[in-house]
Amino acid sequence: MILRLAGALLGLFMAGLPAAAADFDDPRRVYLALDRSADAVVESGGGRIRVVFADGARGLDRDRVLTWVQRAAGAVTTYFGRFPVDDVGLLVIADGGDRVMTGTTFGFGGSAIRVIVGRDTGDEAFARDWVLTHEMVHLALPQMDERFLWLLEGSAVYVEPVARALASQIAPESVWRDALTGMPRGEPEAGDRGLDHTPTWGRTYWGGAIFCLLADIAIRQQSAGRQSLRDAFTAINRASGGNTAYWSMEEIVAEGDRATGTGVLAALYAKMAAAPSPTDLPALFAALGVRLSDGGAVLFDDSAPLAPIRRAITAN
Ligand SMILES: [Zn+2]
Repeated sequence: MILRLAGALLGLFMAGLPAAAADFDDPRRVYLALDRSADAVVESGGGRIRVVFADGARGLDRDRVLTWVQRAAGAVTTYFGRFPVDDVGLLVIADGGDRVMTGTTFGFGGSAIRVIVGRDTGDEAFARDWVLTHEMVHLALPQMDERFLWLLEGSAVYVEPVARALASQIAPESVWRDALTGMPRGEPEAGDRGLDHTPTWGRTYWGGAIFCLLADIAIRQQSAGRQSLRDAFTAINRASGGNTAYWSMEEIVAEGDRATGTGVLAALYAKMAAAPSPTDLPALFAALGVRLSDGGAVLFDDSAPLAPIRRAITAN
């Protein structure tokens, strides 16, 4: 999830906020809370994560939380070759529940993440969590106009499981289970006007993820396996400095394609932005050699034509 606010407004409103604030729904309060000294600092891949436990976050085991933060940061560092920003404030809010409930990333007053963690979250639920990795992927790309939210959410949906697999935190089967079950929700429905003009949940999150998978495959094909979407995203991250920057779609596409020496992003964007452009997902997954068995197990077929690309996506 991403939230934006005009930078100019931020300073204006923060000055007059009352001190009592148990409600961190307002991003200005997130920044206020992160303004005080960190309860802990987690370092990963050249980045500094300043962890603040909101109002003490009573009921949360801090060691457990910090282990989880380090693991999520490690996945993102593995994917991008370094942590995507030099500094981020991470506000951890304790609430009811037995898992990591939700997260939001902000970029308008320095990089910041707000995450709500259930007090009954156990080691297994922390290890399974994808939310914090998803939010940390959001740190990598610049902010963009609202109509391109599908690229920001789609890239986080696509990269999060891949990053965790590259860091050996989950199995490749888990990456492809997400794709097999999730991507059908990203297909255009009746009345669709292309990714730039259809801001539904399915198109934003999973339509964007389909775009990323198609881009990843095409870049690998056109570069004979030497380049991938990871190279494009990494180059965009380095050139922009991450989510405190604000880029146009033209800048994103140009930098990504320059990095891979292809025109893949430009071509796919032209195809999918302003027209429905459905993807034959069953045919695509068959070509990649991956399917779900009747019992729900992920089955690989290494003789499928795109199987080498499928394996390369999760192989470090
Ligand atoms: Zn998101």
